[in-house]
Amino acid sequence: MKPLGPIPHGFNDKDGILSIGSKDVRELVREAGGTPLFVYSRQMVADRVALLRRALPERVHVHYAIKANPFPALLQAMSELVDGFDVASGGELQKLLELGVAAGRISFAGPGKRDAELAAALAAGATLNLESEAEAERALRLAGELGVTARMAIRVNPDFDLKGSGMKMGGGAKPFGLDAERVPALARRIAAAGAEWRGFHIFAGSQAISADAIIEAQARTLALAARLASESGLALPHLNLGGGFGIPYFPGDAPLDVMAVGAALAERMADLPPELAQTEFCVELGRYLVGEAGVYLTTVIDRKVSHGEVFLVCDGGMHHQLAASGNFGTVVRRNYPVAIATRFGAPVEEEASVVGCLCTPLDRLADKGGFPRAEPGDLVAVFCAGAYGATASPMQFLGQGPAREIMV
Ligand SMILES: *Cc1c(COP(=O)(O)O)cnc(C)c1O
Repeated sequence: MKPLGPIPHGFNDKDGILSIGSKDVRELVREAGGTPLFVYSRQMVADRVALLRRALPERVHVHYAIKANPFPALLQAMSELVDGFDVASGGELQKLLELGVAAGRISFAGPGKRDAELAAALAAGATLNLESEAEAERALRLAGELGVTARMAIRVNPDFDLKGSGMKMGGGAKPFGLDAERVPALARRIAAAGAEWRGFHIFAGSQAISADAIIEAQARTLALAARLASESGLALPHLNLGGGFGIPYFPGDAPLDVMAVGAALAERMADLPPELAQTEFCVELGRYLVGEAGVYLTTVIDRKVSHGEVFLVCDGGMHHQLAASGNFGTVVRRNYPVAIATRFGAPVEEEASVVGCLCTPLDRLADKGGFPRAEPGDLVAVFCAGAYGATASPMQFLGQGPAREIMV
C-alpha cells in the first residue's frame, strides 16, 4: 500500500460523509447538478488570509496570483480579502476588470505580453512588471500612442533561487525577468521616459514548505532590491517580494510555519537598509491562499479487479486534475490526499487505485492507496484541489470537457 497525502484541516465528517462548511458533499453534488465537481470554501480562504495577516508585518501587503484559480466567485471573494492581484495574461486582467477590481490594485507580469495586452493594461492603469528591455520599449511607445502615463516595474531575474522549491523560477538563464545587472539601466530609462516608476518584482520560486528556505529567499530579495535601487539611483516605491509559500500535498509534507516566516520578515523590516526605508512591500501568493480550500469530487462508475489489483474507475480524472495525476511539474509520482468522501473516516479495508475515465495510463488520481471498500456511486474526494486544478488541466483531452465548479 502506498501512503496518501495529508488531508488539510477544516473538513468535517458528518455521519461518515465528508462535509464542507455545514453541507455534506452529496448535497453539494445535487445542488451543482452532478460530478465531476470542484468545491471551493469561502470560509477556508478567509481563514487562510486571516492567518497570513496575523503572521506578516502590517507593512507587507498580500496579493493573490490569480493563475492559481481564476474562478469568478473566488476572485470576487478575494477582492474583499487581499490588497492586490497579480495577473499573467490579458485574459486574466480582463477577468478582474470585469469584476470591477480597480486597476490600481493589479500588476501584470509574464513573458510574451502582446501589444493588445500591454495596451489594455496601460489604458486601465495596471502596473506592468516588465520582463525585458524590448517589452519596456513597446509599452512606452504604446503609452505614448494612448496618451497615458505607464505604471512600470521591472521583474528581476534574481541571481539565486528558492531552495526546496517545487518549480524554480530564478537563478541562471530564465525566460522570466531581466538579469539583475541589466536592471539599473532599464530603471533609469523608464524614469527618464516619464513613466511612473513602481519598483521591482522579484519572484524566486514556488511551492516551498520550508520556512527556512523562504526566510533565506526573502533576505536575499531585500538585499538584491536594496543593491539595485542604489545602483539605479532611484527611490524604490514598491517591492514585490515574490511568494513561494507552499502547501503540503504529499505523504510526510508538513505545513509551512508561516509564523516563523512572518517573524523573520518583521525583524528585517525593523532594520531596513536606507534604500528600502520608504518602500511598500507585498507578497504574491497563489496556492497558499486557495489550494487547500478546494476539493475535487468524482463519482465511482466502475469497480474492477485486474491481476488481483482493485481499480476504482471514476467520472473525473487528469483532464481536471493534472497535478494530482502526477503530470504537472513533478518528477516522482506521489499520492495527493484522496479519500472516499461517502465513507469518510471509515477504516481502511483494501488497497485500490483511483483512476479516471481517460483512455491513458497517465490518468491515475491515487496509486495503490488504502481505502474503505468503495462501490459504484460512491464519491471520491481529491483534496488540495483549489489551485492549479480546473484551469491547469487539459479539460478537452479525449473530449471530456470541463468540470463543474462551485463556491460555498
Ligand atoms: C505562478 C506564480 C505565482 C503563484 O505561485 P504559487 O506557487 O501558486 O504561489 C506567483 N507569482 C508569479 C510570478 C508566478 O509565476
